[in-house]
Amino acid sequence: MNTKYVFVSGGVASSLGKGIISASLAKLLQARGLRVTIQKFDPYINIDPGTLNPYEHGECYVTEDGAETDLDLGHYERFLGVHTSKANNVTTGKIYHTVINKEREGAYLGKTVQIVPHITDEIKRRMLLLGKSGKYDIVITEIGGTVGDMESQPFVEAVRQLQWELPEEDCVTIHLTLVPYLSAAKELKTKPTQHSVQALQRAGVQPDIIVCRTEHELTPDLRRKMALFCNVKPGRVIQSIDAASIYEVPLNMAAEKLDEVVLAHFGLDNLPQPDLTKWNAFLGKLNNPKDTVNIALVGKYVELQDAYKSILESFVHAGAANECKVKVHSIHSEYLNEGNVEEQLSGMDGVLVAPGFGERGLEGKVVAIRYAREHDLPFFGICLGMQMCVVEFARNVLGLKDAVSREVNPQTTTPVIDLMEDQKSTTIKGGTMRLGAYDCRVEKNTLAYRIYGSELISERHRHRYEFNNEYLAAMEAAGMKASGRNPETGLVEIVEIPSHPFFIGVQFHPELKSTPEHPQPIFVSFVKAALEYKASRK
Ligand code: GLN
Repeated sequence: MNTKYVFVSGGVASSLGKGIISASLAKLLQARGLRVTIQKFDPYINIDPGTLNPYEHGECYVTEDGAETDLDLGHYERFLGVHTSKANNVTTGKIYHTVINKEREGAYLGKTVQIVPHITDEIKRRMLLLGKSGKYDIVITEIGGTVGDMESQPFVEAVRQLQWELPEEDCVTIHLTLVPYLSAAKELKTKPTQHSVQALQRAGVQPDIIVCRTEHELTPDLRRKMALFCNVKPGRVIQSIDAASIYEVPLNMAAEKLDEVVLAHFGLDNLPQPDLTKWNAFLGKLNNPKDTVNIALVGKYVELQDAYKSILESFVHAGAANECKVKVHSIHSEYLNEGNVEEQLSGMDGVLVAPGFGERGLEGKVVAIRYAREHDLPFFGICLGMQMCVVEFARNVLGLKDAVSREVNPQTTTPVIDLMEDQKSTTIKGGTMRLGAYDCRVEKNTLAYRIYGSELISERHRHRYEFNNEYLAAMEAAGMKASGRNPETGLVEIVEIPSHPFFIGVQFHPELKSTPEHPQPIFVSFVKAALEYKASRK
């Protein structure tokens, strides 16, 4: 069977959930036994989102092979349970970078290098790359941005050309639009969809399927009208109604037969029905919690929920695993201090201190950690959150009052967190952190070992600073244990306080590998510890 390509574009407005629709379709096709991957083409000029502030673009997701990517790749992995890679996220910046480098090498000698064909050829090459690996039956490509934007035009042109070049039964295009509800008129409006499809048609792309994001049911009449005016077959106007959880969307898409319509286009009508047994088991637990825990998420980007996307999703998975609802309370570390910490944290059953960069809000994180440590409140620190629990312990238990991370004070004489050796010569900011998956050896008879049940684990990273091993012996003597370390370099990956009921800090990002079907073990144990803490308070 030839690899089949699905292209997903969006119109009318951004944030309609193209990533979730793509992931839901992928899930349904995978659940019928197909090998599926999803890739995202982003129209911005940054090579990757690694240098973007989370306020600009939400969380930066990191793949096993160390690519800093769009957060939609997190959704792809959570829905499919399959790893993505560098090749799954392409930006305009990457395309131009390749073409300009080739021009300098002389690859186009004598030719004028242009958007068409050189940029579009490079886009097409990358759109087909994963398909040519032979590892996938279906490659779904999500085009970032909104049709009609200047930035996304070369991507839409590449889709137009591929729609023409590929055999018809190997290529399907889906356009996601918004059908707004005007409450004054009590009416759903189809005109924005018609205009959006017209914009796509003007660019030469005829969508095969329209998916309509809506707050109310689409009537058969509305569906017929949109099919007629958008020139798609009846039955190919699919409703995507607002769902209580993103994890319901695959079921909604199955009910709307999105997968069947796509498979019919591909001539693949004889596949078994999707096997969603595990997915449904997860949803069953998610929708029937027996208890609730309150978790404080202490960070500095809390105004923007997307900044901590994978952490929030990991709590959804871990909550379901514990048959418990996890209420996450965002607490702004910049405004947290000794004077208000009791009021902010005393009602919580656990504290998670988030990853981050730079000085803003750091002291608030230290205050939260001290409170959790001194009150036996379950604590979980991730990356910067782990580094700050080392700083807090060094200051308040070891008595190193000036302890700090070198990230904050390059001249410090007490760098309990220091710049990694191989980072010292790095001047370039993009893609130069310690990125991607590394092994970690877990010591037996520790909390970390009880959590993972394994002596060798692998998790993903994104950092420049590390625990300074010169302080290790003193920290361990004072009661903070390094329970996980990199087997080759000795870099401290996990710290814990054995005398505390649940206190763990990790240099890596466990949230990147949590999925509904395989919830991340630290999150699962942390929620369990929060439940126990809550019960002990009663
Ligand atoms: N800023 C810290 C470092 O670079 C932590 C990074 C993070 O939390 N991802 O090491």
